[in-house]
Amino acid sequence: MRDAAKELTAAIQYDRLLDTAIKLVEVPSPTRSAADVLDRLDEILRAERFSVERPAAGWPEAPAVVSRYESGQPGKTLQFNGHLDTVHLPFVPPRVENGVLYGSGCSDMKGGIAACVEAMRALRETGLLTAGAVMLTAHDLHETPWGDGTQLNGLIDEGYLGDAVLLPEYLADPLPVIGRGLSVLNVKITRAGEPVHEVLGGSQQPSVIRAGAEVVRRFAELDEQLRPLSHPLAGRESMFVGQFSSGEIYNQAPIECMLAGTRRWLPGTAMQDAEDQFQQILAEVAQQHGVQIEGRFQVARDAYEIDPTQPFVAAFQSAHRLATGRLLSIGAKPFVDDGNEFVNRGGIPAITHGPDAKGAHTLYEEVAVAELVRVALVYALTAVEFCQSG
Ligand SMILES: [Zn+2]
Repeated sequence: MRDAAKELTAAIQYDRLLDTAIKLVEVPSPTRSAADVLDRLDEILRAERFSVERPAAGWPEAPAVVSRYESGQPGKTLQFNGHLDTVHLPFVPPRVENGVLYGSGCSDMKGGIAACVEAMRALRETGLLTAGAVMLTAHDLHETPWGDGTQLNGLIDEGYLGDAVLLPEYLADPLPVIGRGLSVLNVKITRAGEPVHEVLGGSQQPSVIRAGAEVVRRFAELDEQLRPLSHPLAGRESMFVGQFSSGEIYNQAPIECMLAGTRRWLPGTAMQDAEDQFQQILAEVAQQHGVQIEGRFQVARDAYEIDPTQPFVAAFQSAHRLATGRLLSIGAKPFVDDGNEFVNRGGIPAITHGPDAKGAHTLYEEVAVAELVRVALVYALTAVEFCQSG
C-alpha cells in the first residue's frame, strides 16, 4: 500500500510553488484587466506540458484558463477553481521575507492558484491519481463592484464543471457547508425642482432627508423581523445600512439623498422575495413623502448549502487529516464567493479552503509559503481520495 501523504509531501516543491506564485503576483491584474495574468498562467502550464484551453466564457477581453491532468482511467473529476483578478488598489509587487510572500493578490487568490498548479504537478509526478482527473479553471470578473461574476457563470454554463470543486480563497478553518446570500443595496431618493434656501420655499419642499430617514427606519424594522430567521452555523438574515448622505449646506433643501447597505439571507429564502420586500418599502416611502426613489438590489451570490454527510466532504476531511493530523470543524462561510454559484448553478458540491492568509482587500496582503505548501498537499490528497471513490 502506497503512502500518498508521504509521497506527495516529497513531490511538492516549496521553491517551485513559490516561483509560480511570484510569477502570478508580479503581473498586475485588477478586475476586468486580468488578461495578462491569465496569459502568464497559460504559459506556465504549457511550458510544463499541461493541456490548456482558453474559453472566453462571455469575456473575450480576458479568456479563462482551463487545464486538465487526467489519469487515463474512468473516475470522478475534481475541479480547482480560482479568480486571478484582484481588487482595485495600487499595485504592490511581490516580495518574500522570512518565508512569507507579500504583494497584490498573494492572499486573494494567486497564492492559492499557485498551490493548485503545484498539486497537479505532484499528482503527475507521483502517478498517485489512478482514476478520474483534475481540472483547473481560472478566470477574471470576480471582485465586486468591478466584476459581476459572469465569466465564472459562463464557464459553468459551457460545461467546464467537475464532479466537485475546491476554491482556494483565504479560509483555512472551518470547513464551510453553508453560506448566506448577499445583495448590495443602493437607494437614490430625489425630488422634483432645484436646491432652494430653507426660507425661500425650501421648507415647503418634499424632504429627501426625511424620506431617507424613513427608509432607514423601515429597513431597521425589517432587520428586526428577520432576526428569527437564523441558522446555528451561518447566523441570521439581515438588512444593514452602511452609508447615508445628503445635503450641501445647513439651510438649503437638497434634491438628493443616497444610502447603501446589504441584505443577507439564508438558504430557503427566495432571492426574488428579498428584492420584492426591499422594493415594496421604497415604493411606500416614495408615496408617503412625495419623492422619487430608485433602488438597486445587486445580487453578489445567492445563499447555498451542501450536505455535510456526502462523500466529497468525507474525502476532503480525510485528506485534511492526512495532511495536518486533524479534521476541520464544520462551519459556515462568512463571505460570499464563487463556491455558492457552483452549488446553485452547477449543481456540484463546493468547498472553499485556502491558505490562512492575511490582508485580503488591503495593500498588506501576506501569506506564509508553508501555508501554500499545505494547501497543495490537501488538494492533491483530496483528488486521490475523491476521484477514485464510487
Ligand atoms: Zn478571492
